Amino acid sequence: MRFRYLMPLASLALVAAASSGHALKRQARPVSAKPAQQAAEPSQNAPLTPPSQETTGPLTRPYSTRVVAYQIDARLDPKKKTIDATETLRYHNLTGQPLDTFPFHLYLNAFQPQSTFMTEVHQMGTRGTGSDSGWNPKHYGAMTVRSFTVEGMGDLTGQMQFVHPDDQNANDRTVFQVKLPQPVAPNDWVTFQIAFHDQLPQVMERTGYRRNFFMVAQWFPKVGVWWHGAWNCHQFHANTEFFADFGTYDVRITVPSNYVVGAVGDKVSTVQNLDGTKTLTYQAADVHDFAWTASPRFHDVEDSWTGSAGLVHIHLLMSPGNGSSTARYLHALKGALAYFDRSYGPYPYDTITVVDPPNGAIDAGGMEYPTLITAGTSWWMPKGIREPEVVVIHEFGHQYWYAMVATNEFEDAWLDEGINSYSEVKVMDALYGAGHSMFDLHGMTAGDSETQRLSYLSRPDTDPLTRFAWQYMNSQAYGAVTYGKTATVLLTLEGMIGQQTMKRALRTYFLRYRFTHPTGADFLNTINEVAGRNLDWYFDQAVSGTNILDYEVLSLRSSRVKWWESRGKGQPLYDNLVLVHRKGDFVFPIRVRIRFDDGKTVDAQWDGRDRWIRFSYVRPDRVVSAEIDPEHKVWLDRDVFNNSRTTDFQGLATGKLAVYCQFLEQWASQMLAWLS
Ligand SMILES: [Zn+2]
Repeated sequence: MRFRYLMPLASLALVAAASSGHALKRQARPVSAKPAQQAAEPSQNAPLTPPSQETTGPLTRPYSTRVVAYQIDARLDPKKKTIDATETLRYHNLTGQPLDTFPFHLYLNAFQPQSTFMTEVHQMGTRGTGSDSGWNPKHYGAMTVRSFTVEGMGDLTGQMQFVHPDDQNANDRTVFQVKLPQPVAPNDWVTFQIAFHDQLPQVMERTGYRRNFFMVAQWFPKVGVWWHGAWNCHQFHANTEFFADFGTYDVRITVPSNYVVGAVGDKVSTVQNLDGTKTLTYQAADVHDFAWTASPRFHDVEDSWTGSAGLVHIHLLMSPGNGSSTARYLHALKGALAYFDRSYGPYPYDTITVVDPPNGAIDAGGMEYPTLITAGTSWWMPKGIREPEVVVIHEFGHQYWYAMVATNEFEDAWLDEGINSYSEVKVMDALYGAGHSMFDLHGMTAGDSETQRLSYLSRPDTDPLTRFAWQYMNSQAYGAVTYGKTATVLLTLEGMIGQQTMKRALRTYFLRYRFTHPTGADFLNTINEVAGRNLDWYFDQAVSGTNILDYEVLSLRSSRVKWWESRGKGQPLYDNLVLVHRKGDFVFPIRVRIRFDDGKTVDAQWDGRDRWIRFSYVRPDRVVSAEIDPEHKVWLDRDVFNNSRTTDFQGLATGKLAVYCQFLEQWASQMLAWLS
């Protein structure tokens, strides 16, 4: 999912920030892939062994351990905005122990005034809605289980019980569980037969209808995940996404004959019915969710792309009036397919569908499902505002960091959203140019890295990346930290270990953990392993901590060594003192570039462990400037305007400008924070 920036206002903020000349153009990124020379690190552990192996062989099906097999037969009533369906779920008990209790998600029940989801939205806001917004009955959504039977055990509808693993809200009905009369033995299959009825909400939180457009997501009873020795089946929260096991889906969808449909997986048949409807059958394997969309007004633009795993069919379902974005979507999508294929590994599915929501249904945009993503644009979108591009690139990235590397989005949101925000930056920069990839209008520019950093700066110290998604201070903090901070942490890491090592680490992580449910430790251990050194000192502060990184040049001073002697006695020697201060609680090794009046420079290293350091140089020249992080690799540094100082006269001028720019930068990030 992508936090939605209301583009007109966001553009304003960007324009204002860009026109300051500094705030967004903070860093001209070096193109060199050379790893930064490291100062002594706070904890120097022995280097780790390089990665033993990379699974690079060809993929053969099944790609995943298929725990679930869903067969669903669904009929849409476009007038009532309802779906009636039957579901057969075969579940393979691979837990190694007998199971007699099964929890299920009923996500659509979140769209009710007393649900945990809506309570949190009301209190703290969310992606699509500001906090404290009133209840609109059109946003009512519900999923009702009409019957629940288990093969060989009979009708257990009466055994269904709503449970609340995360809070005490008795009115939340997003998770139910059923206790079976007898357990399912290890390695056995159990078959559930469920009849259910959906009431779709008017589009909110990526789901629902708008006129005759339908985005049908999180719409069927979905079993929890047995993970780390227990059921993992969280309630639906304002800031949470999803978690599910891999398996197969065989879904029949009945809609009016004139509707155009897009869905996860491949369409295998179309049958015209006598009552003016048609039934489409979709199949997907090695995926962990199924969503679909339908509208009589979609224009299905077909295309294809060939990568290292073969041909990929592209369906772009365009809404009326948005035709001018078609080529932009396709360029971004193919660019992302190529970048990921080249950098991280193959895209193994044979299809990808992009849904362009119609005017008025933008809340359905910017969301990911396996092989199906939703985009977002408008008819007026200028070329220089790359909103259509960044949404497609972000959501496509989730095919890797969510659909294939299927982390627990409830508990480890940074592993999908954050890693994805980082790779979004890499693709945006590769396709549209670092420094102006996001915004390039009338000479004013902003890159995606700068945007991520601004987002991070709006809430720099509220929560660690590792916080469960629903436990963040509020939805702004969730957005700033999960997306912006993770991207900024990984950009800084890239500055430490080098672009190529970073790419190799992500590639190794992807190839090793695709089609599984890895954890944060799996990710960080992979980085340590590929980098060949232990970076836990960094992760402890940047990932598990809320430390603020901020260094400043406090003063420059130059005085004659023999200051008591009168001037004019030959070439004087100067004692040059540079005072550098660690303002934040984040300990990080830094480099300081010190320039003298003969034009020569010296790079000084500091491990940053003490609160300050004084560098001293005795030479015939006087110091004129000092700059922390001269190659602009430490994206986490909160305040870059105190990173450099020049001797008196210039220093004063820079100081005033810095205050002005800092004000604008803070104003712009505040603006983005309100909007996200
Ligand atoms: Zn996302």
